[in-house]
Amino acid sequence: MDSHFDVMIVGGGMVGATLACALGDTALRVGVVEGAHPPAFAPDQPRDVRVSAVSLASVSIFETIGAWQGMTMRRCCPFRRMRVWEDRGNLEFRSNEIHEPLLGYIVENRVVQLGLLDRLRDFSNVHLLCPANTRAIDYAQDGSSITLDDGTRLEGRLLIAADGGFSRVRQAAGMGVSHTDYEQQALVLTVETGYGQQDITWQRFTPTGPQAFLPLTGPYASLVWYHRPEEVKRLQTLDDASLLSELTRSFPDCLGEIRRIVARGSFPLRKQHALSYVKPGVGLIGDAAHMIHPLAGQGVNIGLLDAAALAEVLVSALARNEDFGSLNVLNRYERMRRTDNWVMMSAMDFFYRVFGNANAPLKTLRNIGLGLAERISPVKTFFMRQAMGVQGRLPKLARGEALSR
Ligand SMILES: Cc1cc2nc3c(=O)[nH]c(=O)nc-3n(C[C@H](O)[C@H](O)[C@H](O)COP(=O)(O)OP(=O)(O)OC[C@H]3O[C@@H](n4cnc5c(N)ncnc54)[C@H](O)[C@@H]3O)c2cc1C
Repeated sequence: MDSHFDVMIVGGGMVGATLACALGDTALRVGVVEGAHPPAFAPDQPRDVRVSAVSLASVSIFETIGAWQGMTMRRCCPFRRMRVWEDRGNLEFRSNEIHEPLLGYIVENRVVQLGLLDRLRDFSNVHLLCPANTRAIDYAQDGSSITLDDGTRLEGRLLIAADGGFSRVRQAAGMGVSHTDYEQQALVLTVETGYGQQDITWQRFTPTGPQAFLPLTGPYASLVWYHRPEEVKRLQTLDDASLLSELTRSFPDCLGEIRRIVARGSFPLRKQHALSYVKPGVGLIGDAAHMIHPLAGQGVNIGLLDAAALAEVLVSALARNEDFGSLNVLNRYERMRRTDNWVMMSAMDFFYRVFGNANAPLKTLRNIGLGLAERISPVKTFFMRQAMGVQGRLPKLARGEALSR
């Protein structure tokens, strides 16, 4: 294999693989380095503990790059209602209120990644190196090189960091971040319920953190229990029967019968923003650029918008015969995404702090706020369209428009 690429993407997770597909069938030679291939899908295998609420804007991106069918033919669960409450204040979004068939889908991360990796194999200009880990990354403004664990050396004009929150590419390029660790972790549980298919996702705010229900296909569901790190650690030490009884005691009654815990995992939570997304010859996308609190399930959705925006900028630079690795071109991507990502990150931080505060007047105010949002329909419609990702400045792929090659 020729080891010279125009674009070298490190990380073939949900965001990196989306960028690679979006650059499929262009004149760019694209290399994707991914450390671990997800296990092949079989309908009877246990569900991935990591799932994502995928917005309609993300679905448009997947459809336009030709990867959505690979996800729906595996396993995706549409949801039509979304309920948020604390004590008295109650806000419920219903897709039929805005004449839409649904609000989004809950999809296992592995299913998203498999759909994308399948699709990128269709493109002769995209080369997937997987499993392959980076041993060394040498960043240079006019072309970088990567040495893989097996000694293979790759070179490329533009290096893309899609390698997650602790990005080695970002570090190699000397790009700093600002960050805060939340005093909260997420315990995620895949459970088998005693009831049939659900179409609602709900979240209750409690003084120790939100508790969330996300429907999966059939009688399965994903529960997220946000709590103090030491409490999550304690819950993780419990056997399934004890954890189940703590769960039933702490979650609201509407959780209903839980028959068994199928899988569990815990995740530390951090807010992190790269000080810049680009330098000459390098760009950051997805969690490599930003990490946000997952309470409204927006992290990967904004990462996919990064991938769509960067692909749009690169394809248009190519059409104009510009140097696609130059700062001048890459700055256009940063301008398209940075402020929107900052707004989303700040909104999640605001909800985390306001709903985590036990101050009584503040509690009354937020319950009034939820009640008002429920009753004032333009406010409600605004929040609903925001959650669906169909509002604001969207890159072409998220509007269902193909990139002109
Ligand atoms: C509890 C929890 C719940 C969440 N729920 C939602 C949700 O409902 N909706 C939502 O939108 N977001 C959600 N998120 C956020 C979402 O999971 C992340 O934003 C998303 O995974 C980021 O995708 P990514 O591709 O940028 O990075 P990652 O998912 O971290 O992928 C990085 C990839 O790079 C590879 N890699 C890393 N380093 C190397 C290397 N050196 N060499 C080769 N390969 C490498 C890894 O193997 C991996 O495949 C949630 C997060 C958490 C913690």
